[in-house]
Amino acid sequence: MYIFYLEMNDSELFISKSTKEVYASLLDIIGNTPLIRLNHLSKKLGCDIYGKMESYNPSGSIKDRIVNYIIDQAEKEGTLKPGMTIVDATSGNTGLSIAFLALLKGYKCTLTVKDSSAPAKIEQLQIFGARVIKCPAEAKPDDPLSYYSVAKKIVAEDPNAFYLNQNYNENHYLAHYNGLGKELWEQTEGRITHFFASASTGGTVSGVGSFLKSQNPNIKIICADSAGSVLKPFRETGIYRTDLKKATSLEGVGKDIIPGVFKIEFIDECVEIDNDSSIQNAKDLLKNEGIFIGGSGGAAIDALIKYKMLHPDEKIGFAVLSFPDHGLKYMGKLYKSDSPAENAADLHK
Ligand code: PMP
Repeated sequence: MYIFYLEMNDSELFISKSTKEVYASLLDIIGNTPLIRLNHLSKKLGCDIYGKMESYNPSGSIKDRIVNYIIDQAEKEGTLKPGMTIVDATSGNTGLSIAFLALLKGYKCTLTVKDSSAPAKIEQLQIFGARVIKCPAEAKPDDPLSYYSVAKKIVAEDPNAFYLNQNYNENHYLAHYNGLGKELWEQTEGRITHFFASASTGGTVSGVGSFLKSQNPNIKIICADSAGSVLKPFRETGIYRTDLKKATSLEGVGKDIIPGVFKIEFIDECVEIDNDSSIQNAKDLLKNEGIFIGGSGGAAIDALIKYKMLHPDEKIGFAVLSFPDHGLKYMGKLYKSDSPAENAADLHK
């Protein structure tokens, strides 16, 4: 497999591939993603910043790590057996990852999605073989028609259903503890001082945070949250605010329930990001460094910028930002070109 090893030279970090291999299946290229120095941003903010490129996972996002881990554990525990149907409530990257891994491992798959999900996304899930059930986006989490409730009902009525349950499954959090968290510790040779990631289920910040803090309790874990999300108020007050409404269309940022995998004891701070500047950050990253990421990666950049302003005296030695997926997923939504293409024929007039 590709191994990215690190060599120190003053403050510079060089990343090289040590071996080239042929793989037995796509399962073998889940994880071990590149960590790339963000040279322009590091210079601008005056600290060492690196991006963790999770779009390098085979279905294109960080979610392959958790879905693969949950499926593996369930197979070992005997709760997931051949012929069963994997069920969950998700229309984002987790849904695609479930559809992809169900296809690869020979399971059926049923996903409940919000009817506000982009038609192209729903179609992609179906092309990957998922049965997709659209649920009203405006339904509150405890409404029987919400995508959470419908998934639970399907599982309750079908003895052949396996509920992946990304919001409450402890193996989700453990996937990042044993996977991404450990990988970042090794990849940075213990030099990481800050980790910034957008939170939706909170599995990333919690799992990575718990591993990194087990190695060095001084490492700071910062979660990018959106206005109107319940996560930041819950971390700060312990209260679940059911009166709030998430005010971002950025996928993977903010939540309307408190997932069991959101473990506040491993999170040092939640920073409320700004929607427009998060999108601008992602666009700037492309222009300045050639790195094309989704909006939640831009939100992690925004959290870093805001965190630096909130803590002017704190030294940020080695910051890692989670870039959960690729910008290509958001063509026409976050990314649009405003310069019309030219016709070759016009050049010959
Ligand atoms: N960004 C994107 C694009 C995502 O799909 C997700 C997960 N929905 C996240 C960030 C947040 O990750 P987590 O659920 O681990 O908090």
